[in-house]
Amino acid sequence: MTFDVEQAKKWIMTFNDKIQENKEYLTELDQAIGDGDHGLNMARGFQETVKKITEGKYDDLGSLFKDVGMTLIAKVGGASGPLYGTAFMKASLALKGKKEVDIKALVEALAASLDGLKVRGKAQVGDKTMIDVWEPVIEYMKNRETIHSKELTDLSKEKMDDTKELEAKKGRAAYLGKRSIGHIDPGAASSYLLFASLAELFEEGEVAQ
Ligand code: ADP
Ligand code: MG
Repeated sequence: MTFDVEQAKKWIMTFNDKIQENKEYLTELDQAIGDGDHGLNMARGFQETVKKITEGKYDDLGSLFKDVGMTLIAKVGGASGPLYGTAFMKASLALKGKKEVDIKALVEALAASLDGLKVRGKAQVGDKTMIDVWEPVIEYMKNRETIHSKELTDLSKEKMDDTKELEAKKGRAAYLGKRSIGHIDPGAASSYLLFASLAELFEEGEVAQ
């Protein structure tokens, strides 16, 4: 499969649909261990992003992802705006001037996004943040000859669910200490939706690298 501007737009639009559908759920998760704005932040930010990229004309993946990143940074409040914004800005740099890429190059760009997230947020796996989904998912995609759509979705979901048992060490939830245990991390939940949306692009269940 080649990943081009149309595929990338489809990814963002599918993600936006899932965010809008799960807005209340994300809000509830953030009410439990944060300030209850994650659903709203993401819904507003990605609504604006979809508007922007629908109106825009893009010759390459870099310029598309740059608009995504900049819109998120400008429109999404809280920690998640700058974090998702950084992820897309890093992908944009990695894909600068590329009209289309193979999955290996897409995964490399997403690995750069993960590095950017870690530099920006200083969170590690186990800190109960979106990194708990991002890192194992990127590792999975990097190390497989073949990415199975279902495996990708299942792994993201499993890693999201695993955040329930963790104590938050970063972000607002960290103020709760041990009381953060027993709740899924909201950013891990939105990240699961991001990778589930990506998995939907991989037709017929799997894609060769
Ligand atoms: P805020 O916490 O400012 O209200 P959101 O509610 O939109 O922002 O987003 C919260 C999510 O952001 C958390 O669930 C977590 O996944 C993620 N997050 C917060 N801080 C960090 C960090 N330092 N590194 C990575 N992710 C983080
Ligand atoms: Mg919040």
